[in-house]
Amino acid sequence: KEEDKNVSSTPTPPHVLILPFPLQGHIVPFLKLTELLCLAGLNVTLLNTEQIHSRLLQHSDVKACFARFPGFRMEAISDGRSLSDPPPTVYQLEEELGLLNSITKPVFKEALVSGRVVSGGMPPLTCIIGDALLNFAMEVANELEIPFFAFHVLNAATIWLVFSFPDLVDAGKFPFIGDEDDKIDCVKGLEGILRIKDIPMGEEDKGVGTLVSVLIQSCKADAVIFNTFDDLEGAVLSHMRLKYPNTYAVGPVHMHVRSRLSREPSERRQSVSSANIWQEDRSCMSWLDSQPSKSVVYVSFGSLTILKKDEFLELWHGLVHSGKRFLWVMRPNLVEGLDWDDQQPTKLVEEVGEGRTYVVRWAPQEEVLGHPATGSFVTQCGWNSVLEAIVAGVPMICWPYWGEQSLNSRFVSELYKVGVFMKDNDGLDRGTIATTVNEVMELRKGGLMESAAKMATLAKKAVGEGGSSYNDLDRLLDRIRLMAF
Ligand code: UDP
Repeated sequence: KEEDKNVSSTPTPPHVLILPFPLQGHIVPFLKLTELLCLAGLNVTLLNTEQIHSRLLQHSDVKACFARFPGFRMEAISDGRSLSDPPPTVYQLEEELGLLNSITKPVFKEALVSGRVVSGGMPPLTCIIGDALLNFAMEVANELEIPFFAFHVLNAATIWLVFSFPDLVDAGKFPFIGDEDDKIDCVKGLEGILRIKDIPMGEEDKGVGTLVSVLIQSCKADAVIFNTFDDLEGAVLSHMRLKYPNTYAVGPVHMHVRSRLSREPSERRQSVSSANIWQEDRSCMSWLDSQPSKSVVYVSFGSLTILKKDEFLELWHGLVHSGKRFLWVMRPNLVEGLDWDDQQPTKLVEEVGEGRTYVVRWAPQEEVLGHPATGSFVTQCGWNSVLEAIVAGVPMICWPYWGEQSLNSRFVSELYKVGVFMKDNDGLDRGTIATTVNEVMELRKGGLMESAAKMATLAKKAVGEGGSSYNDLDRLLDRIRLMAF
């Protein structure tokens, strides 16, 4: 009997299936969350679409980095795209959701039922941590009675706003009526900050309406996980926790990994440094090495932004006029109608001279932001970029492109005071751009740097032992372990 008792109380090792949405900005935080679970000793299967899987094997150090975790597997599933297709652009997101529903969903269900994803001696699945955009996976998980936790790669404010939409509609408060600069005070936790023009709506060419309705569904998940921390979004998080008690804020996840790794023996401290689906160009690091401290403006618009050619040229010449040094990430599809290979970027660089500017197609961004020569960051304000700049203590010049980026820019400039909102008005010319860059690099440098250093300290505190994100991650890990028991 005593023996039986021992057998039945032997814990089953927890096994989590990680399922990111197939975009760069989703892969980065998902890989960091995966590392956190592996470091805690959980078994993890990372399931990507075939295209992302093969690009990660080609361009990232994921395989090498995770080799030290015996309970880690990488698997792939089809979304119908060919391996040679480029990753989806911002205009293909609705199409991608359609492919995932029609092609991936049945294969995914079959893989779970047949046990294909728990191959190689892995224990049965305890739960799925899936991207909040992957409703299809939540539906399959529900059918098969596997708990589904939704990981949001956007900030908590955006998701809280999205979750509030149905109530706002019922109360007759949405759609919002007024001038675009009017403040909206009916969303708890966001009073005094949200303006009508910050609401991510009306961008149907980029499928924002569809994405919002998909995200609303994710409130039905068994838990909600955020890449944020309490000192950054405390007001919204407390409202969220009242309505959704299983809310975990564990970010910034890349900093959290660094913090937990520092407690590991030195030979086990290797972390994913390049979660890339594009080839990274490290030559910019030696260029940065030769630049004076805090002298360089780093310019990157993430993985999805597409600039109009006129916009790009105004920005480029604005930076030239500012007289500052700059490092620019020129993704091959960054500028509409401007082909990298048509020599124009090369000519532009030659005009300014390599001493003052440097262009790469894809940079090791976390490292660039952490480099002592980097003084500010022109960014589209994707949530990963915002968090990476906060952790590095680098002031931001916000140039939001779509979706929630305008809201993020508002937080960065008005609430956290770690940047300026350059694109708050239409029709920006090179003169205004040059003035804004100089404001951030000279006039307001001291104040912005001070706020940025404070925010960086708060981020570090959140992921350190006893910090809010540290505790939330432990709560999440305990919950998963208990479910496996
Ligand atoms: N990134 C990078 N190198 C680059 C540009 C971007 O590694 O040259 C990374 C960046 O560090 C961030 C991600 O790509 O982690 C972009 O995510 P974000 O949320 O900022 O924007 P999105 O691409 O989703 O618009």
